[in-house]
Amino acid sequence: MDIVKGRGVLEEVRNIERALYVIGPYTERFLGNGRKVYGSTRIEDLDRIKERAGVVVGVGGGKNLDSAKYLSKRLKVPYILVPTIPSSDGIASPSISLFQNGTRVSLFGNPPEKVYVDLDILESSPIIYKVAGMGDILSKYSSLFDWKLAEEKGYDKIHKTSYRMEKKALKIITNRPHNTEKLLEALILSGKAMALAGSSRPASGSEHLLSHAIDIIRHRMGLKPNIHGIQVAIMSVFTSYLQGNDWEAIKSFLEDHGVLPSLKTLGMDVKMFLKALRMAPYLRERYTILNEYMPSKHETEKILREVGLA
Ligand SMILES: [Zn+2]
Repeated sequence: MDIVKGRGVLEEVRNIERALYVIGPYTERFLGNGRKVYGSTRIEDLDRIKERAGVVVGVGGGKNLDSAKYLSKRLKVPYILVPTIPSSDGIASPSISLFQNGTRVSLFGNPPEKVYVDLDILESSPIIYKVAGMGDILSKYSSLFDWKLAEEKGYDKIHKTSYRMEKKALKIITNRPHNTEKLLEALILSGKAMALAGSSRPASGSEHLLSHAIDIIRHRMGLKPNIHGIQVAIMSVFTSYLQGNDWEAIKSFLEDHGVLPSLKTLGMDVKMFLKALRMAPYLRERYTILNEYMPSKHETEKILREVGLA
């Protein structure tokens, strides 16, 4: 995985030979006359794309990047990622998250051939996307705990280097939370940790499972998805409580950055959360704190009140 980082590097992306650009309405303006298709969160839409290519280039946020990863897998060609917002570790990871027949599908592809990191564009992105990127990294407190728990219980084996890389990403964010370049370093590190482990396991535990369940529920209700990094950070407050970890640190991080850590922020009520909580452990073969301890309805309501999510 090559990282091309600098100011104005997006210029280099304009004329890649035999490229199929996966874009959105906001990223179209960044590119020249190459062949372009719109990204989508639905596999049904992506399977209707008939274009061939030598390389797929995803430009934009999670939707376009994941669409590019999926198309590259389908066309059996490499892909290049050009994130325009620093909102999640998907900017450099092989993990793909889309919908098919109304349910969420998680796939794992090859790592990107190249990632273009244009600091001018990423630095000027709205603050909420930067907070989301930091939130996605902070959620690793929860996912790494779950990974360790799974190993202790004999359900999984920790990949030591990958684990250390995620720890380092966490350290970068807790030390230098207001530097976009450092944030990108952490997000890329997390993406590489997943590529190395060969799964999203290092970066995704119970907090991500809860987030996936919320995505499914919202998708079925015809609602737009929440910003991933914000959602997993808020879910980490809950899972960290179950894990007996420092949920207050994640909560105050969100508050300090202008995000209200509550279900309301995610457009949810307690009933919807309970539904997501029941669904979450069955979404993946992945041992987490939710397999260890599933609180009752009454207990859940009590915890939500205690941590301030409801
Ligand atoms: Zn994530």
